[in-house]
Amino acid sequence: MVLKPLIQHCLPPFAVDLVHWALPTVGESTYNEFMARFALIALGILILFFLFRWAFASPSKKADNPDATDMVKDPNCRMYVPKPEAIRKTIQGNELFFCSEKCAEEYRNKQASAR
Ligand SMILES: [Zn+2]
Repeated sequence: MVLKPLIQHCLPPFAVDLVHWALPTVGESTYNEFMARFALIALGILILFFLFRWAFASPSKKADNPDATDMVKDPNCRMYVPKPEAIRKTIQGNELFFCSEKCAEEYRNKQASAR
């Protein structure tokens, strides 16, 4: 029964209430059992946390991969091009992406003749 006053002395009031609720009769064996259970729960939460982090970290890493970045559509040949490799042109105020300079030129000519 040495531990109970020690707990009451060290912990904030709400924690003391919690200890009273969890351990109505504090003996050293109950206290150790309680701490062991608490440590087990904490360890379980920690393991779960790391498992979740590992599970969610791998797909997001894939998304960061430049190979998997957004694809943009070439409006001239209707081909999909990875955004970093695409040729960016602003035609009539619209930002457009092309697979090549040739396509960009063709598209610009088409737009010009359509007008
Ligand atoms: Zn093209």
